[in-house]
Amino acid sequence: NNMTNHMIKTLKVIYSGQKGARLYYEVLIQDANKPKCCEKWETKLNTDINWNTSFKKIQKIREIKLKWFQIRLVQRILATNVVLAHMGVEKDVTCSFCGKERDAIEHIFWRCEHVKRFWEQLQTVVNNACANGLFVNLNESIVLFGHDCSFKSDDTFDLIILLAKFFIYKCKVKKNIPQFHLFRNYLKTAFEAYKYIAIINMSYDKFTKEWQFYKTLMES
Ligand SMILES: [Zn+2]
Repeated sequence: NNMTNHMIKTLKVIYSGQKGARLYYEVLIQDANKPKCCEKWETKLNTDINWNTSFKKIQKIREIKLKWFQIRLVQRILATNVVLAHMGVEKDVTCSFCGKERDAIEHIFWRCEHVKRFWEQLQTVVNNACANGLFVNLNESIVLFGHDCSFKSDDTFDLIILLAKFFIYKCKVKKNIPQFHLFRNYLKTAFEAYKYIAIINMSYDKFTKEWQFYKTLMES
């Protein structure tokens, strides 16, 4: 009931199953009351962001739950403590992890010291033990939007980053500091679910190829 027209249009695009980043872009530019999320992000991060690539990445997300999560993140409508305090649900506007800084999206997913440690651990394992041919040097843009101009990724790594963000968000809701070893278990559960889907869709070979470099991430 609380959804704006803009959110309803976005949901319609997600559920339509149609392909193309343009659909998302058009939803953003058509609506006179569109959120100023793109401008806001660029001001917040003090950088230009390639929105076309950001929306292309969203379009490629297969799971509705993860797609809707990333759309809320990009549109800055995720329920942070600041938003919850505004709604009267939460009193404290500080970060659920460090308790020091304001609970902004960029803080939860990148700037918080606890989250930074999490990403460093992920990056170390990927660079040392995943022979994916990528040299991963994570930054705010890669973590938030799945890309930056200097980093060439692959679809599985994009999915891992997205799952890691979703895991961080789940930790935030439960007010638990994200632990990398717990993420490994979470990733393994997701991997098993994707494997099952691949088997019933007769695409197990493709699935094995896609995940071949990332199995180490699931071994704690
Ligand atoms: Zn924090």
